[in-house]
Formats: sequence, structure tokens, C-alpha cells
Amino acid sequence: MQNVHDVLGVGFGPSNLALAIAAKEWQQAGGQGDLAFIERKPAFNWHEGMLIEGSTMQISFLKDLVTLRNPQSHFTFINYLKAQGRLEDFINIQTFFPTREEYNDYLSWAAGHFKEQVHYGQQVEAVSPWLEDGEVVGMAVSARQADGQVTQHYSRHLVMGLGGTPNIPAAFSGVTDARVIHSSQYRGRIETLLADHQRPLKVAVVGGGQSAAEIFEDLTQRFPHVEASMIVRAAALKPSDDSPFVNEIFNPSFIDQIYTQSNRRRREMLTEFRNTNYAVVDLPLIERIYQMFYLQKLRQDPRHHMLTHHAVEQATAQPEGIQLTLTDVLDARQYNTHFDVVILATGYRRDQHETLLAGMAEHLETMTPDRDYSLRLRNSESRIYLQGCCEMSHGLSDTLLSVLAVRSQEIVEAIFESSTQRQREAVLA
Ligand SMILES: Cc1cc2nc3c(=O)[nH]c(=O)nc-3n(C[C@H](O)[C@H](O)[C@H](O)COP(=O)(O)OP(=O)(O)OC[C@H]3O[C@@H](n4cnc5c(N)ncnc54)[C@H](O)[C@@H]3O)c2cc1C
Repeated sequence: MQNVHDVLGVGFGPSNLALAIAAKEWQQAGGQGDLAFIERKPAFNWHEGMLIEGSTMQISFLKDLVTLRNPQSHFTFINYLKAQGRLEDFINIQTFFPTREEYNDYLSWAAGHFKEQVHYGQQVEAVSPWLEDGEVVGMAVSARQADGQVTQHYSRHLVMGLGGTPNIPAAFSGVTDARVIHSSQYRGRIETLLADHQRPLKVAVVGGGQSAAEIFEDLTQRFPHVEASMIVRAAALKPSDDSPFVNEIFNPSFIDQIYTQSNRRRREMLTEFRNTNYAVVDLPLIERIYQMFYLQKLRQDPRHHMLTHHAVEQATAQPEGIQLTLTDVLDARQYNTHFDVVILATGYRRDQHETLLAGMAEHLETMTPDRDYSLRLRNSESRIYLQGCCEMSHGLSDTLLSVLAVRSQEIVEAIFESSTQRQREAVLA
């Protein structure tokens, strides 16, 4: 049988990259185990659609792929800088927050060490049980290449690191028009959509979070022929809370605290700290946008608009543009307006694993992960580990970068130490 592995990672973003590094360091320390990964993109890239000029990281580079677990690793951000000959220059910049462009380069440099282990250009479409004599001994994974060819991979354990799927609001669900894009497609698509410089173009950005604000600012700065409107349901753009006491919820050690709470208490904690990550914007960016509106007033040139308290009720593609039916929620006034382009900065869903694992349903004990991120299978030693979709059980850090270094080590230990332990027990029995 071809393509048989001990561990198969589905998706090769930062989460499974951190896993690849943790496993490599585990092997260097004498551990054993074979890992492979499947990634739908043709090469490594981190949120390439949002690589907006000058946008910066929202966590310290010290929370890179490894430092919190092993500051002596080859894969630290500092070692990357040294290898690129930029360590001193970076120190002179005096920041903990590199640009996303540089962080993508760091992640790509790290990913370059694992080329042999990653099957790029394959999209996983389904997971089913791998059966031997009626027993589940692992998972069979179907992956489709760009040319339509489907390959089967087999693995004792899976680690799903799928990231998010664009969240499309109900008002846009039936709209398939190239003039409506999600924020994840912004860079690359927007330049083509705004290529007509002969007339003013009206662009709407739907959403009030960090991505919406970054896109809005980019539109106002980079495209002089654009009239941009930011459509926000809330009363105002609100700052993200990254103050030090609050930031402790992103410490890997906090996961034990939140995991052991009751469901109700956990939900309360997620709500309490929602303003660290959702529908919030870095304060300096809010201030720059406010300053831009102030200058508009000064110059009596009201080109761009901030439509707070506004909800999009319906979107319709028409030849002259995308018609949005908006409600001003303060006075319930409803009206139609047209845009040449609409950008949905409306976040991500993190439920793709549920669809992919539908074929495993009868073998899974539960869809709630254990503390070690695993889903247990009935009557089988195989496990399916989840990275990035365990916010409800493991807290707000789960979808972010803060915990990657430590989480990947926990998963490597759960997979390899427990199978070594089981092998030992089998020998002794
Ligand atoms: C613009 C932006 C900026 C961000 N900045 C920060 C930040 O500064 N700090 C922070 O902590 N977090 C940040 N985040 C949060 C983000 O979730 C993490 O940065 C990080 O990307 C999580 O890594 P991941 O590997 O879990 O998911 P992803 O990075 O989304 O990687 C998942 C990978 O799986 C692949 N994949 C998905 N489905 C399949 C399939 N069916 N078959 C094969 N491959 C598949 C995808 O192509 C992708 O490469 C940011 C998010 C965005 C959108």
C-alpha cells in the first residue's frame, strides 16, 4: 500500500508547521515517528490575501513557532533573522511586532525545511475509516489535485490544522459575482477590480474588525479614485484589548484553567474576553482612520464614509453595480445604494473538520476534544487531533498563534509517547 503514515497533518499552515518542527525536535531527541502533510495551496503561504503593505503582527515575535517551548531551537524568529543577515537591522527597528510580510517570510523559511514531507496542491475532501479485519486501524484520506486526480492517503493518526473558511453573511449567500470578494482574497483581486482609473469607484467594506479597518485604510491610501465606505453594525470601531493582565489568557498555561470549567462558565469567559480578538481593531489604526476623516472635514472633501449602526439586509448583483439594501438600525430606515465592489471582512467559520469527518461519525466517541486536542475513536488506538477549531473547549488562544509552540509539543507527546507506551505494554503483556 502506498502513502501510509503514522501521522498525517491535514493543512500546512502555522499550526501544522509548528507540529512538524516539534516532531523533528522530538526525533532529534531520540523519538520516532513518521509524519506527512497535505496542503491545498501549491506552496506555503500565510494569509497571502491580507498581506497589506505595512500591516504588522498582533503578537510578539517571541511567540513564534518554537520559542515558548524551546528558545534554543533552529526555528526561532531570531535565528531566521540571523540566517537572513538582518538581525542587527531588526534590533534597530525596536519592535516586537514585525510586518506580516516578514512573518510570512519567516514561516515560509521554516516551512522550506519540510518540503519532502508536504504534499502541496492537494485538497482533502473526505476522511473515512481505514479498516483491517473489521477493526479501525486508522483513517483513509481522499485528496484531490488541481488536475482532478484523487489520491488516497492512509494514516494511524490525523492532525487537522485547517484554519478558517470565509464566513459569508446570509444577505450575500446567493450572490456569486466577481465584484463581491471576501477579505481573504483582497490582495491580488482588488488590484484587478479597481483597474479602471477613468472614473471614481465606490467600494464598500462590510465589517468592523481588524481586517475591515486594514482594508479600509489601504483603499483610502492606495487608490485615489476610490470612494470607500465602511459598513459597521456597531456604534463605533472599538479597540482590541491587549493589556498585560488580559493578555495572560493567551498564555499556554491558561488553557488548563479554561478547559476544566463548566460549559456555561467557559462560554461566559469567551464572552468576557471577546474584545481581545473579535470585532475589534488595534488602537493606532483606529486613530489613523479618525485622523483621515478629520482631514476630510478640514478640506471639506467628504469622499470616504463610516456607516456605523448599519446592517446589510440584502445584496443583489446588477449590471450597474452591487446593490446593498441597508438598514440604519437607530431609526430603522431602510434604503438601497450601489457599489462597484463589495469586500466582506466578515471573519471565518471553523467547522470544516466536521464536514471532512462526516464519514467517521459512527466511529467517533464524541466531537468534543480531550485536553490533548484528540477526538477518541471507539475500539481503536487511532486518534484525530484538532488544531485551531477548539475555541469552545480550549479558549480564545486556540485559533491564534500564541499557543502553537506548546500545543504542537503536547500533540507530539500525546501521539508518540502514548503509542510507545502502548507498544511497551503490549510487549510486557
Ligand atoms: C489576516 C490575518 C492576520 C492574522 N494575524 C494574526 C496575528 O498577528 N497573531 C495571531 O495570533 N493570529 C493571527 N491571525 C489568526 C490566524 O488564525 C493565525 O495566524 C494562523 O493562521 C493559524 O494557523 P493555522 O495553521 O491554524 O490556520 P491557517 O493559517 O488558516 O492554515 C490552514 C491551512 O490549511 C489549508 N487547508 C484548509 N483546508 C484544507 C483542505 N481541505 N485540504 C488541504 N489543505 C487545507 C489551508 O490552505 C491553510 O494553508 C491572523 C489571521 C488573519 C486572517
